[in-house]
Amino acid sequence: MNWQNTGNIASKKYKCGYCGSPLASQKGYTATNYVNGSTRTYGWIYICHSCEQPTFFDINQKQTPGPLIGNKVKHIPNTDIENLFNEAKSCYSIGAYTSSVMCCRKLLMNISVSEGAKEGAGFAEYVNYLNDNNYIPPNGKKWVDSIRKLGNEANHKIKFKTPKEAERILNFTEMLLRFIYELPGIMEDTELET
Ligand SMILES: [Zn+2]
Repeated sequence: MNWQNTGNIASKKYKCGYCGSPLASQKGYTATNYVNGSTRTYGWIYICHSCEQPTFFDINQKQTPGPLIGNKVKHIPNTDIENLFNEAKSCYSIGAYTSSVMCCRKLLMNISVSEGAKEGAGFAEYVNYLNDNNYIPPNGKKWVDSIRKLGNEANHKIKFKTPKEAERILNFTEMLLRFIYELPGIMEDTELET
């Protein structure tokens, strides 16, 4: 890809919101305006070395899209689940924390259905299903309680979620996906090789 007329701008360290690479870039553009006899800077666009996607920084250094959160999980057999997980992470990276939590909530329902829970049940029943069928690791009761609370909050009341709450549920969801799909998948790969 060729970004035309990029210049050398002040080097900036950031984590790319598209590919997740940590990098320092000095390739991009500066936005300026000439007001009342002086030049004002409004922001910068940096181009990532790895994926060549553009990231905007405003004058307060707010990054858009924000850094990618979490990690890729391998061996997810269902594209709906994989897409929803990516959407939850994308919502987080643009600061849409309530939407991110709602995606995770839906994801927990989809995971339990893919693991045999009946469709059309309530959120609490899906969480119970995961818990009763040993998908929640030992000492995970606090997690289960905090996830159950999400079921009552996210869809019925308008209570906006904080970055911390969204990060917590994303971490939990990632751990669950790793536990349910990635680890068994790695074992199968190893068995095929031996
Ligand atoms: Zn990138």
